[in-house]
Parts: sequence; structure tokens; C-alpha cells
Amino acid sequence: MSTYDYDLFIIGGGSGGVRAARLAGSLGKRVAIAEEYRIGGTCVIRGCIPKKLFAYASAYSDVFKDMTEFGWSLEKTRFNWQQLVASKNHEITRLEGEYHKSLQKSQVKIYQGRAVFIDAWTLQIHSTGERVTAEKILIASGSRPKIPDYPGKELCLSSNDAFNLKTLPKSIVIVGGGYVAVEFASIFHGLGVETVLVYRGSLMLRHFDDDLRLLLQKAMEIRGIRIICNAMISRIEKQDNRYTAILSDGKKLMADQVMLALGRIPNTDGIGLDRAGLATDRAGAVVVNSYMQTKIDHIWAIGDVTNHVCLTPVAIHEAMCFIRTAFENEMTAPDYDLIATAVFSQPEIGTVGLSEERAAQKFSHVEIYRAYFRPLRHTVSGRNERMLTKLVVDGDRRTVLGVHILGPNASEMIQLLAISLKGKLTKDVFDATMALHPTAAEELVTMYSPSYCYRHGKKVKN
Ligand code: NDP
Repeated sequence: MSTYDYDLFIIGGGSGGVRAARLAGSLGKRVAIAEEYRIGGTCVIRGCIPKKLFAYASAYSDVFKDMTEFGWSLEKTRFNWQQLVASKNHEITRLEGEYHKSLQKSQVKIYQGRAVFIDAWTLQIHSTGERVTAEKILIASGSRPKIPDYPGKELCLSSNDAFNLKTLPKSIVIVGGGYVAVEFASIFHGLGVETVLVYRGSLMLRHFDDDLRLLLQKAMEIRGIRIICNAMISRIEKQDNRYTAILSDGKKLMADQVMLALGRIPNTDGIGLDRAGLATDRAGAVVVNSYMQTKIDHIWAIGDVTNHVCLTPVAIHEAMCFIRTAFENEMTAPDYDLIATAVFSQPEIGTVGLSEERAAQKFSHVEIYRAYFRPLRHTVSGRNERMLTKLVVDGDRRTVLGVHILGPNASEMIQLLAISLKGKLTKDVFDATMALHPTAAEELVTMYSPSYCYRHGKKVKN
């Protein structure tokens, strides 16, 4: 019998921590988890889930605009922000309850409070002072919005705050050009908020395929979002409940709210890592090897706190790998290859695998199959919006290296296409697949000739 209080103690009740706790519990291990806020973590409480609900709410405005030519009319539509926030709160509370139930079912002890290392085997629960020991410890404390040191930064919203605003602003300035900035710009604009996005680079969504970046940026501008590129915020001021964001070139933007969406930082402050003999890297992340193990053999870390790939399904996958390695005697390193991802903008982006630019650098012969077309719905709705489907193919081996989609349901399509890429299917298999007509996705299996190619990094016609 172990002399420790627990076989596994987990710091953080987010997606990764909860999955690890449940799996370890189901193996008959004595497991505890500490969460200082609400079980469910960023994804459930103030991230993916509420964001998607807000995206659904905002997309109704498209339906109202597009319906007339289909024969529908409505006297008047009215949006109630407080109702949306209440519905969202209801759903996340339900999900939080489900998480609690699943932990209880797996006999996991839940500590409400921050767990702080006293030494490498002992943790203290901050709220109660209780001390516990564990044979293995998993750090899954996640991340929080990064707020750079601008004068007036305390006047700005983070994504956490944006979910619980008391009233919907009439206007907003959003700073950043990543997932959160782009998604919230679409959400607020769709809800009728005058929206300005300020980004320091020349084209938002830096790590995505350039085609997607350019076409999404244009589409968002056509919809009415003002996008100011190559601009930085220097300070924020408040006057009579309105805010002024002052850009580094002196330009001023006035709005009811200013939101910063400038990335996230790992939650490693205040958990006593040094007392466990652990240090962090320059980004503040816990350093782990390819098996998610720190330099202290019995302490592991998964999810955003390691700053690897900060996505919920990745944290869950890392949790499953950790359990296999730590408890099932099967060394399992997480597989980060071909992670499908979506930006829930309007229109939406779905992407998996190599961008055109990366593939052209890595492979000597690359074929690009590209269709940029008006979806059937918009031939009637009249909406001036096109859709992009693009395949990036290894011209020598015929393997599909990347798929990039901009348009309705891109996220749903890309999840399924990720299976084809993971299975290393060739373009010939795509060609041999019968199209399903009429769908937008049929384009993906009917692009028979390359639009253009790359030979040794140079773009050529064919
Ligand atoms: P991202 O890392 O995606 O984007 C951060 C943005 O802020 C970039 O445009 C970056 O510019 C800019 N930036 C960073 N620092 C500064 C600065 N000091 N001044 C001006 N601009 C700056 O972070 P997000 O906050 O958007 O999202 C955090 C993470 O959450 C994402 O990485 C993703 O992993 C996850 N997420 C996933 C979603 C999804 O799957 N749909 C949705 C939302 C979040 P530059 O590009 O020039 O570096």
C-alpha cells in the first residue's frame, strides 16, 4: 500500500485535467483534482463552448439578410444580449455539472481551490490550508489571456470579460489578429456591433495558408468590419463611459469597448513550481519531454500550461497519452501531426496539414488544386461571398498534404478530411470518390487538374 494520500494529484480541472482524472480513476487509482475556479476550465466555461454559442447567435443575422429571395420575410427582428448570456450560462452550468458527475463516477476527489507545491510530493490547497501528498502529480493548469503592459490596459476587455458583458456595446475595437480576435470580431459584427479590428501585421491569422488569410480578411471587410493592419495600440483612455484606443501613429479610435486578444500565457504563477524543483521556459511554460514528463520524474504536465499546441482536443489527447505512459506501462508520446483546426469566423475557416507556402518549401514538386466559387445558396440569396476549397498535393507521391476551406461548414468538413490526410490518402483516392451533388464539399473530389504547381519552390503554371 502506497504511503501517499493519492496515486495521482492533478492541478487544474480543465479539459486535459478532467480527462486524465477520469481515466486514472477508471483504472482504480486514487485520484484527486484541484480547481480554483469552475470544473471545465477555459474550454467549457470561458472559451470554445460559449464562443461557439455566441457564433451561432451572431450567424442568425446572415439568415435574416439572406432569406428574402428565398421567400421569407419578418416584420422585425430584435436581439436580446441578456437572453444570450443567460442561455450560455445555463448551458455551461449544465456542462460543468456533467463534468462533476463524471469525476464523481470515477471516484475522483475534487478540491475547490488552488493547489500549491510545498515540495515535490506535497501540495497545499490554498483555500483550506489542507496538505496532501501524491505519488504522481500532473500539472494541467491551462493558460490565461496575455495582457501586455499598455497604459490603460485595465480598461480593456479580455475574452473572459467579453462573455459576460452586462450590455452589448454599440461599437468595439478589438486588438489582435489571431483566433480570438477574428472570431470575436465576427461575433460582435454579426450581433450588430460596429467593429474595428487592429492588427500589427499586414494580414491576420499569421500561421494559416495565405489564400485563406487574404480571402477571409477581404470577406470580413466586405461584411463591414473595419480592419486596420500594420498598427499597434500605444494606450487606451476612458472618457464618459467611452474608450479611446490611441494607435502608435497617433490615430484615435473611439468605441464603447476595447478588447485585447493578444494570445495567452501559461498558468504557472503562484503554484510553487520552484519548491518542486521545476523551472519554466521564457514563455512561462512548464518544460516537458516528448512524453509530457518534467525533469522531476513523477511530475508531468499537459495542455496549455506546456505551450505546445493550445487546443482542447490536444490537451485531451495528451491526457490519454500521459495515462498510458504513467499507469499502463506503455510509453506513448502525443502525435501532433495533422491537427485539423477551425476559425469560427464568418465565413468560417477549416484547415488541416501544410499550407501552400510550407509545402512549396518542403517538397520539390507540389500541385495546388483550387476552386473559388459562389456557393449555390448565394446565387439566390444575392450575398456577395465566395467559397474557397484548396488541396495541396505532393506531386511526386500524390499524397494530399493539406486541405484549406473558407466558407459555410468549413469546420465540419475539415474534421472529416483530417481522417483522409491521417490515412495518407492520395489525390487519386479523392478523384476516385464519387461526388455528392449538390454540395459545396463535392468540389473537394472534382478538382481534376492542378490550378498551378511549385517546382523546387518556384510557382509554375503546371
Ligand atoms: P493567437 O496566438 O492566435 O493570436 C495572438 C494575436 O495577437 C496574433 O495576431 C499576434 O500577432 C497578436 N499579438 C501578440 N502579441 C502582441 C502584441 N504585444 N501587440 C500586438 N499584437 C500582438 O492568440 P489568441 O489570443 O487569438 O488565441 C489564443 C489561443 O487559443 C490560440 O493560439 C488557440 O490555440 C486557442 N484558440 C483556439 C480557437 C479555435 O480552435 N477555434 C479559438 C480561440 C482560441 P502576430 O500574428 O503578429 O504574432
